Amino acid sequence: MEITHIEHIGIAVKDIEQAIKFYEETYGFKCYAVEEVADQKVKTAFFMVGQTKIELLESTSPDGPIGKFIEKKGEGIHHIAFAGKNVKEALPELESKGVLLIDKQPRKGAEGLDIAFLHPKSTFGVLTEICEKIETK
Ligand code: ZN
Repeated sequence: MEITHIEHIGIAVKDIEQAIKFYEETYGFKCYAVEEVADQKVKTAFFMVGQTKIELLESTSPDGPIGKFIEKKGEGIHHIAFAGKNVKEALPELESKGVLLIDKQPRKGAEGLDIAFLHPKSTFGVLTEICEKIETK
């Protein structure tokens, strides 16, 4: 697969309002979108930093993936997302290289991206997302 850049870095936080305030006041970033992804039980907030984004993630439920992550590891970097091309075709290719797939098929993430997660067990401990902007016709 062809990876073009780091699309975003996902950061798990307990209180997204406080974290947004921190990122805006400390670094001068501007939060341009807040979006809830019901499917993932998260509320997300985005900042643009060059061509890479920071994605803040707050759990909307203690049993969601971010809620569980924070309970286990505390707040901090949750995942890295690479922008790629042909994510759908890339998944079996990655699997054939020994990567464990969390998502066998791409699904819809925040910002209308097609996303798929790779298991940290097979990526040196880094929960990795590959994503692709699908042009809607
Ligand atoms: Zn993400």
